Amino acid sequence: MKETRTEWLKDAQLRLDRKNAFDASLVVGTARFNRDTGRDRMVRQPFAKFIDPATNLIQLDMTRSRVCPVCGAPPGRALFVKDGFRHVHCESCDLIYVSLILREDILTQYWREEMVWKSVLKSEPQLEMDILKFGYGLDLAAAYLGEERDLLDIGAGNGDFVLLAQERDWRAVAMELNLESAASLESAGIKVIVKSLELSDIAPGSFSLITMWEVLEHLTEPKTILYEVHRILPENGILLILVPNVGSLVTRLLHERSDTFGGHSHLNHFNQASLTKLLNLMGFEILEMETVITELGAINNYLSFADPYLGEAPPFSPTLTPDFIHENLWGSRLLVLARPAKRDPS
Ligand SMILES: [Zn+2]
Repeated sequence: MKETRTEWLKDAQLRLDRKNAFDASLVVGTARFNRDTGRDRMVRQPFAKFIDPATNLIQLDMTRSRVCPVCGAPPGRALFVKDGFRHVHCESCDLIYVSLILREDILTQYWREEMVWKSVLKSEPQLEMDILKFGYGLDLAAAYLGEERDLLDIGAGNGDFVLLAQERDWRAVAMELNLESAASLESAGIKVIVKSLELSDIAPGSFSLITMWEVLEHLTEPKTILYEVHRILPENGILLILVPNVGSLVTRLLHERSDTFGGHSHLNHFNQASLTKLLNLMGFEILEMETVITELGAINNYLSFADPYLGEAPPFSPTLTPDFIHENLWGSRLLVLARPAKRDPS
């Protein structure tokens, strides 16, 4: 058993093969995936009608300003405005973030009514990829945890990760603030906590694994949740994080044309440096940091002057391979496994 675990962690080809299996641009092609999941029909700018033509920004009374949520530095150089939201670069920690974010009440209302994204996540081609991605992360975490099988999934959404974990004999609990999602999780027989982590009274050591699949980029104050995760995890517990990678090749090429930018919901854009800094500040040591999902289709399209997300350009260069992209941490998502370091958060 131990032998198998070591093999899995060290076998680069096996890991790459498993990553490629949930990389939609390689499996079904970018344009087809975007059409079949309904991404092409999504409303791209839900707050367009609130943009002040004088400033090109969302009306000021709907927003509030913030400093860098990782290092606390005041807003640095402005990079661009996307959909009415100003994106800035923190020169101290390398985070790219939205400096004027929607007020909490507007954001809450938005998420309560937001249904389009849920239908994307529930689409069959998306689910097929997600299940393989979730399985990959779960196996990676299990390799460090051995026989301990208790997990908390923060921001559980449709519950597909929790259901997969339960099928694989994990005791899995969901945390989900969206009331409608929480209700449907409960009706699927999943135990749900409908409170934020800092308001729930979870005892330290209750879970050996805490997962946050595409959560941290949405949070106004990512440190608050990480403080609580650190408090709850046992010494050998594992935190699994997946976030969009602003250091990815696709984002470096597309800049504001990248779908990852849309300031109403994606507030923080991490790369290797800023995510490492955040985790270290909050008392975690990193066990694994890698990228998944190349978005090679969008890269090939852009380099061939085609629409990045709906074009069907052939490969641009034989040197642009998944292997090459992931070796440089240029994939579109950062996948991190961390555990509490043997010191308190600063
Ligand atoms: Zn910073």
